[in-house]
Amino acid sequence: MRAAEIADQLTTVLVTEEEIREKLDELARRVESDYDGKELLLVGVLKGAVMVMADFARALNRPLEMDWMAVSSYGAGTKSSGVVQIRKDLDTDLTGKHVLIVEDIIDSGLTLSWLLENFASRGAASIEILALLRKPEAAKVHIDSKYVGFDIPTEFVVGYGLDYNERYRNLRDVAVLAPHVYS
Ligand code: 5GP
Ligand code: MG
Ligand code: MG
Repeated sequence: MRAAEIADQLTTVLVTEEEIREKLDELARRVESDYDGKELLLVGVLKGAVMVMADFARALNRPLEMDWMAVSSYGAGTKSSGVVQIRKDLDTDLTGKHVLIVEDIIDSGLTLSWLLENFASRGAASIEILALLRKPEAAKVHIDSKYVGFDIPTEFVVGYGLDYNERYRNLRDVAVLAPHVYS
């Protein structure tokens, strides 16, 4: 689905499909060189990271393993509280693995800081983060995200895996949802 087809539900397209593709290629070259000679496990955080994972994994010209984690963070409305519950755990034993967490967006950073602690306690050899998008609020909780695609303003965005009530995930671009859709 393209932004033009639902233009009345969006305000601005922030990142286009083409920009995402170029950025993921660029990040893939960095990851290939940083993880040269190491076993790499990509962990996608469901469900928002599905598109990033699918495209980023295919941009990587090297062997890798993939696993998925589903978590929910409870809080009022669109804000996460930092209280995280595992809905689907990894199938992989992290002992000795070089883990790269693949995320759609870092907002408060609370979900990721919880995940980092959780993974560290499972004996991973290294843990890094790749996030397609980052909002300025990420500064609140310091998250060392080694690979970041785009810094975007503090607005509620949808598309490329990101949803509003499970909709808009199949939008090819990342766009700001028009306020009249949720008010
Ligand atoms: P954090 O714990 O960093 O505040 O929450 C991150 C999660 O909240 C993301 O993985 C994503 O699922 C959701 N989220 C944060 N900002 C947005 C946004 O602008 N749009 C959408 N659709 N989800 C968001
Ligand atoms: Mg996410
Ligand atoms: Mg969501």
